[in-house]
Amino acid sequence: MLTKTPRIPGLDGRKMSKSYGNTITLSESDDDIRKKTKVMVTDPARKRRTDPGNPDVCPVYDWHKLFSSPETLKWSAEGCRTAGIGCIECKAKMADHLIEWIAPIRERRVAYEKHPARVLEVIDSGSAKAREVAKVTMKRVREAVFGWDKKRKQVSGA
Ligand code: SF4
Repeated sequence: MLTKTPRIPGLDGRKMSKSYGNTITLSESDDDIRKKTKVMVTDPARKRRTDPGNPDVCPVYDWHKLFSSPETLKWSAEGCRTAGIGCIECKAKMADHLIEWIAPIRERRVAYEKHPARVLEVIDSGSAKAREVAKVTMKRVREAVFGWDKKRKQVSGA
């Protein structure tokens, strides 16, 4: 809620959801990313290439905010508002940045796929860390609840 991108829409502009089929997964190939982003929904008021658009209502621009450089973001917003760029090139540029971002993650994913035992180790170690944090949190909760109750009884003489 406190970021510039509190909501990331799906490819069709609706809430991103696997059941809507409007997602891009971390294992997606470059080709698939390009194909899917090519047909992304844009500002509905921008019907022709010569119509100026509003990036603030465009899902592609929301994705630019996540993956593109500040220069590209500026290029996209200004080009959209002045009809200086077309949606096709805007989407293609966003796809470039998305692919750049996703490529190292995809590589790591493939590496882990080859070593499932390592994945289980990572999960186990994450669970152990989470348990430690939960223990400390529960101790603080108990102190807050029972400490308060004790004080209340002392004051009321119960
Ligand atoms: S130019 Fe870019 S930001 Fe503007 S409507 Fe088209 S895809 Fe969206």
